Amino acid sequence: MIVKPYAQTLYMEALISLNKRLKKNHPKYLTLREDLNRNIAGDIGEEAVMSFLQKVKLPYKFFAFHNISLFGESLFQMDILIITQYYAVIFEVKNIQGEIEFKSHPYQLSRTLSTGVRNSFDSPEIQLQEYIYQLNVIFSAGGFSLPIYGAVVFPFTSSYIKTPPYETTVLFRNEIKSYLRKLKTHDPPLSLEVLDSLKKFILNKTTNYKPFPLAQHFAINPDDIIKGVECTICNLVGMKKVARHWICPKCRNISTNAHTKTLKEYFLIYKDSISNTECRQFLNLNNMYEANRILKNANLIKTGKYKDAKYKMEFIK
Ligand SMILES: [Zn+2]
Repeated sequence: MIVKPYAQTLYMEALISLNKRLKKNHPKYLTLREDLNRNIAGDIGEEAVMSFLQKVKLPYKFFAFHNISLFGESLFQMDILIITQYYAVIFEVKNIQGEIEFKSHPYQLSRTLSTGVRNSFDSPEIQLQEYIYQLNVIFSAGGFSLPIYGAVVFPFTSSYIKTPPYETTVLFRNEIKSYLRKLKTHDPPLSLEVLDSLKKFILNKTTNYKPFPLAQHFAINPDDIIKGVECTICNLVGMKKVARHWICPKCRNISTNAHTKTLKEYFLIYKDSISNTECRQFLNLNNMYEANRILKNANLIKTGKYKDAKYKMEFIK
C-alpha cells in the first residue's frame, strides 16, 4: 500500500522558478540548469518506480513512502522507503542513462554516454550505507527493531550496468518484486499494530528539505533575479497591472490572481520577508494600496505595523 505517493517537492518547484528567473548570463546559470535537469531525471525515475510499486502485491502488508527526509545525525533523504512486519528497504533510485560502472577505490559511480562523454556521480553505495545506519539510529530511538536493507534501483533499461558493485544490491525496476519476495519472512519482529505505529512515526518525523530562499542557499545576489509577474498561459515574466487585472503584453491573457504564484516564488527564491515597497518592486506595481491589498489577502504572517510591516510565508512540510 502506498502511504506517501509520488509528489513533486517544494524544492523542485523552487529550482524550476530559480532557473526561470535567474539572468541567463549569470555565472551560475549553467550549473543550476544541469542541477535542475538531474533533479527532473531523478523525479521521473522515482515516479516510475512508485507507479510500479502500486501494482506490486505481496502476501503480507507493506507500506511504501516516496521521498522521506528524516533527521538522524543529520538530515538525510530516502527516495523510496518500504516497511513491513519483517523488514524495511530503502531504494536509492538512479535514472542515469549510459554505461554505468560502480567503482570502489574510491567509491564512485561513473557513466559513459554513447557520445563518449563521461560523468561521475556520488556513490549510491555509500549513500545507502549511510541511510541504513541513520535509519537504524532513528528506529532504535523510537523503540522499533527491524532489519533494514537497501538497493540501488535503475528505473529504465537505458542504463547499462557494465560493472556492478561488489556488495550492494542493484535492481532494475522489474526485479523489485522478486527481490522483495526473497527477503526473509518468518518470525516477524513487529506485530501488525506496531507496524502501523511505525508508519505513523515515520510520517510524523518526515520533514522536507527547505533551503529557502534559494538565492541565499546558492549564494546568488537577489539583484540577479528577474522580477515581475509570470503569465499563467505563456510564462512570460512581466504581466502588467491594469485596474483589477493582470494582462500579458505577449499573449493578451487576462488574470485576476497571477500574482499568487509569483509571490510564492518570491519567498522560495528571493527573500524570506516582504515589505510593501519590496512587493511593489517585485510585482512591478506602482500603487501602495494595491500592494497592501495583495499582501493582506495572501495568507502571510505579518509582523510590525504601518510602514514597518513585513510579511512572511510559512512553508508547511
Ligand atoms: Zn502570456
